[in-house]
Amino acid sequence: MKNKGAEYVWFDGQFVKWEKASVPIMTHSLHYGTAVFEGIRGYGTGNNLFIFRLEDHMKRLRRSASVYNFNSRATTKELCEATVALARKIAIKCSCYIRPLTFVGLHGIDLNVTRDSPTHTVIIIFPFDKYFKAEGIKACVSSWRRIHDGSLPPLAKAAGNYLNSVLATQECRRNGYDESIMLDTQGNVSEASGENIFLVRNNEISVPNLASSALEGITRETAIIIGRKLGYEVKERPIARTELYMSDELFLTGTAAEIVAVTHLDGRPICEGKEGPVTKDIREMYEKIVRGKVDEYMRWVTPVW
Ligand code: PMP
Repeated sequence: MKNKGAEYVWFDGQFVKWEKASVPIMTHSLHYGTAVFEGIRGYGTGNNLFIFRLEDHMKRLRRSASVYNFNSRATTKELCEATVALARKIAIKCSCYIRPLTFVGLHGIDLNVTRDSPTHTVIIIFPFDKYFKAEGIKACVSSWRRIHDGSLPPLAKAAGNYLNSVLATQECRRNGYDESIMLDTQGNVSEASGENIFLVRNNEISVPNLASSALEGITRETAIIIGRKLGYEVKERPIARTELYMSDELFLTGTAAEIVAVTHLDGRPICEGKEGPVTKDIREMYEKIVRGKVDEYMRWVTPVW
C-alpha cells in the first residue's frame, strides 16, 4: 500500500496512527525475511462488514510462525478480537483487505531465531476492491519453479517465500500476462504466484495436492467444499503440466483474487476464452457465502457491526 489506507493500525495490542507505525532499521525480518503474514478479506454489504474465515486465517498465521519456531505473542482469539476492534476503530464498512503480520524484531544479525526472540504483530486494514478483472485472466507457465518443502516450506506463509513469487510475477508481466503458474521441482503443477489453481475436465475437478509445493489456501479449501456440495467430484492429486492445456476449465482461488477463471494459458484459449460453467457455479456460490448470504456457511463470516 503506497498511501495511507486508514487512520490507525493495530500494533502489539495498541492502536497506532498509520504514519507512526514504523520499525527500527535492524529489524531482523527486514534483513532475512523472518516474518509470516495473512491476507484476509472483509466484504461490505451496505449495513455490515463480514470478515471471511477470520479464525482460520489467524490459526494459519500462528502455524506458519511455528514452522520457524517463533510466535505471535497474541492468541488466535486475541488476534480475531483485535481485527474486529480495529475495523470498528477505523469505522470501515466498505470491502477491505486485512493484513496481519508477525515479524522478528531486534534479534541482531544472528540467524538462530528462537521462541525467545522478540516478535511483533501488526494488523493493517485498508479498502480493497477487485484484484483481477472479473471476466478472467491470461496466464502463463512460469520458467521459475515453485520453492520446495526441502528448502523453503511453501506451506508456511512466510514473507521470504514471496521472493519466488516476485520473480514469477515480474516475468509474466514483462511478457504481457496477468499471472504466472509455477511447476514444482518435479515438473508437476504447483500454484500461481499468489493463488491456488484448479482444473476441470469432464465435469471433474482437480487441484494439486499439498505435496505439490502449494500453500494450503483457505479459498482452496472453500472451493473444494463448495464443489463437493454442488455435486462435483473434487480430487487432490499431482497434476501434469500438459493437463492444464487439455482441461475444459481452469480457475484460480485466493483471498485477494477470489475465484477467477483462467481464460488463456500460454496463448491458448481455455473454454473458448471464457469462464466455464463449473467455475461460474463455484464462483457464484463463493460470492454469496463471503457476504453472509448462505445460512449454512454463516460460521465462516464474522460480522463487524
Ligand atoms: N498460494 C499463495 C502463494 C498465496 O500467496 C495465496 C494467498 N494467500 C494462496 C495460494 C491462496 O491462499 P488463500 O486462499 O488462503 O488466500
